[in-house]
Amino acid sequence: MSAHRLPTDTDNGLLLIISGPSGVGKTTITRGVERSIPGAVFSVSATTRAKTPVDVEGVDYHFVSDEEFERMKSAGEFLESAGIYGKKYGTPRGPVDEQLRRGRLVILEIDVQGAVQVKAKMPEAFGLYILPPSDEELLRRLQDRKREDAAKIRQRFNAAKEEIAAAKASGVYDVFLVNDNLESTIREAVGRVADERARRARGPA
Ligand code: 5GP
Repeated sequence: MSAHRLPTDTDNGLLLIISGPSGVGKTTITRGVERSIPGAVFSVSATTRAKTPVDVEGVDYHFVSDEEFERMKSAGEFLESAGIYGKKYGTPRGPVDEQLRRGRLVILEIDVQGAVQVKAKMPEAFGLYILPPSDEELLRRLQDRKREDAAKIRQRFNAAKEEIAAAKASGVYDVFLVNDNLESTIREAVGRVADERARRARGPA
């Protein structure tokens, strides 16, 4: 990696963390924000979880073996890493540093455990947490996915409620957005990011 400056580089880099419980529409919102902001880049995590038919290697995740994940971790290649539902997830640090230097908006879609680690290392990161409109709606969305049986859905629902409480208590998130409509939530997220970049460009008041 070189610190060579390209003509397209700016000093406007921002690290954006997007988190939210499963079933809240987080991935759609993340990809919507990425598409709406020129030069935004999605940070592709490494994971040991199995690839599903909808996942694209190198786009959604880098799917790696447990050995490879542990090698990357001991080599200090992760900005953060976490164990989720028995699988490992980590954010490769190199691309994040490189793209931030280039003035890009770098988007991390990670869980609360990971966000806490990132914020400790990079306090300038901007945190956005997506909330469901209500408990009933969260439960309904988990049921609609039809991926799991009732007991498993209840377990996911309880885990989601705990994650929301942990997110609120963590102090990591600057903005909590209720996703009652995907398009307007994406628009609101994009607006908050633009405001934050403008505020930082003006410098301390
Ligand atoms: P999924 O397996 O459904 O794609 O993701 C499960 C959870 O892992 C989601 O909450 C997602 O935000 C989180 N996640 C994905 N990549 C990372 C990562 O690199 N680090 C951390 N800490 N969480 C991640």
